[in-house]
Amino acid sequence: MSAPAGADVVVVGGGNAALCAALTARESGASVILLERSSEWDRGGNSKHTRNIRCARDGTSAATRYGAEEFLGDLRSVTGDALDSELARYLIAQSREVGEWMEAQGVRWQPALRGTLQLDRTNRFFLGGGKALVNTYYARAAATGVTVSYEQRVERFVFDGERVTSVVASLPDGTRREIPCRAVVVASGGFEANIEWLRRYWGSAVDNYRIRGTPHNDGNVLQTLLEAGAETRGTERGFHAIAVDARAPRFDGGIVTRVDSIPFGIVVNSQGERFYDEGEEIWPKRYATWGGLIARQPDQLACSIFDSKAWGGFIPCMHTPYRADTVKELAEMLHLPAAPVVATVERFNAAAHDHGTYDMAQRDGRSTRDLPLPKSNWALTLDTPPFYAYPLRPGITFTYLGVGIDGYGHVRRGNGCVFPNLFAAGEVMSGNILLKGYLAGIGMTIGTVFGRLAGREAARAARA
Ligand SMILES: Cc1cc2nc3c(=O)[nH]c(=O)nc-3n(C[C@H](O)[C@H](O)[C@H](O)COP(=O)(O)OP(=O)(O)OC[C@H]3O[C@@H](n4cnc5c(N)ncnc54)[C@H](O)[C@@H]3O)c2cc1C
Repeated sequence: MSAPAGADVVVVGGGNAALCAALTARESGASVILLERSSEWDRGGNSKHTRNIRCARDGTSAATRYGAEEFLGDLRSVTGDALDSELARYLIAQSREVGEWMEAQGVRWQPALRGTLQLDRTNRFFLGGGKALVNTYYARAAATGVTVSYEQRVERFVFDGERVTSVVASLPDGTRREIPCRAVVVASGGFEANIEWLRRYWGSAVDNYRIRGTPHNDGNVLQTLLEAGAETRGTERGFHAIAVDARAPRFDGGIVTRVDSIPFGIVVNSQGERFYDEGEEIWPKRYATWGGLIARQPDQLACSIFDSKAWGGFIPCMHTPYRADTVKELAEMLHLPAAPVVATVERFNAAAHDHGTYDMAQRDGRSTRDLPLPKSNWALTLDTPPFYAYPLRPGITFTYLGVGIDGYGHVRRGNGCVFPNLFAAGEVMSGNILLKGYLAGIGMTIGTVFGRLAGREAARAARA
């Protein structure tokens, strides 16, 4: 059967937000075409790498409850007060409900993973992770009659005044396809895979960054919207970045390249110097600062060093750590200047507390003494071979620049009006709510809640 030439609703993108929008528009009675830029085998954008979604919930006790006010407080504490409060409250209120809808699509849950990031009260984990989640949604899309087209790079929109009348996509053979429609949902992610766009702010340092997700999120649709007069929201220069193993692939390394050993030892730069307090805070509150810290080091390179006492205390990354019987040998294996690394470890060991209870579950106060740059907690000496090290690079997760939306998901125009049949969901509009910082799991909450909203409203706009 040949694909339909047009549809009531065209959805741009093939990750979580796009799929939630497409399924909801279809539920609302619209005919839907979803245009995914990737091929079928690597469909699902960054959403395929995820594991969990943050949801408010009523619990029977403080140990199980995650109330709306607490969720909002957590959000404000990371992103500040410039967020759109109404959209944030809508997001949080809806986050209570989305689990039921997800289950109705076929999504199943698994217990929270144990490990360094403890999220079982605030987050729900997808059985099989994000790949299983998007596969479930694609299966549901096929069953409900959503037309999915792969390898369609959406390039522009055709407008009649302020209304979109068709979407133009380029195909792998170099031809173009124009798809007439009555409404559009843009869910094409951020621009974190666009190296040249990042270079504008970060210069040649970007050549050493790793992009944790899909190479397809280059922001070309975001750029098109901005050129068409969409309002900007979020932070242009900002990105969320963590420490990943320097051996990770340039793109799409996913969750398994994350390095969680940092609070268990020390981190040195390519000159063998420590540059930040590795024990400043519990890991869930600090892991997302390390990408930016490493990005500011010479050659954007650093190295997490720990000894055998720490091994087994964290979920290891997919790359095997370097291992040696002495710190000197370890430094040489990593092509670091051995003498400064050895001197740094000796200074650290001399200053590390050797009393008090060591407890990784909380800030244990085992701090170094008289080091100009302290390690404030978990300061165990590095003295028990074998010694281990992970080489580190900044791993970019997503960018914070997006388009403004109103309470119905319409893309806002710079002149205070909206595009009446153009909607946005997911990372491409997350700057309305998340301008900096991060709360684990909120990316999927934003995509699910605003994907559902945009799908429903796009179907309504298509009927108008
Ligand atoms: C390794 C990793 C782990 C993460 N873990 C979590 C987690 O556990 N929980 C959480 O909440 N968040 C997590 N995140 C963040 C999360 O992935 C995003 O917030 C979320 O996936 C955004 O969903 P989205 O649908 O907006 O974008 P995406 O899922 O990235 O989808 C964007 C889609 O747009 C398509 N596209 C791009 N350009 C075009 C174009 N021109 N034409 C057509 N299609 C186009 C892409 O191919 C892709 O399918 C993680 C991110 C990474 C990288």
